[in-house]
Amino acid sequence: MLEKYLARRGVTLVLDPNAIGGSFSTLENGTAILRLPVNPPAEIVWHELGHFILWRRFGTEAYRRLPRVYGNNVPEQFVFDLLQCPDRWDRLTPEYRLRMVDYIENFWGGMGR
Ligand SMILES: [Zn+2]
Repeated sequence: MLEKYLARRGVTLVLDPNAIGGSFSTLENGTAILRLPVNPPAEIVWHELGHFILWRRFGTEAYRRLPRVYGNNVPEQFVFDLLQCPDRWDRLTPEYRLRMVDYIENFWGGMGR
């Protein structure tokens, strides 16, 4: 279902048996690839869909131009803000909340995925 939803919007869903995390990559031709582990935890799906939402909002060119420098990584900050909305935050597992905090403290501003 997710695969069809994404395909209609120009995104190829790839389930990678070797992947641990997910990634969202935009291509020159205006499409994108969303890569997920097989049977991904919901949090990873939400995270990568956050990038998808932002990409849809900005379009490929503008999305690619968003700052991704240490201390100002707009795509990762957007996903963080999206997932830490109180109603969503409550649904995250304690492990994932910790990972989010770790992310913002240690990787936010890094390249992210
Ligand atoms: Zn990310």
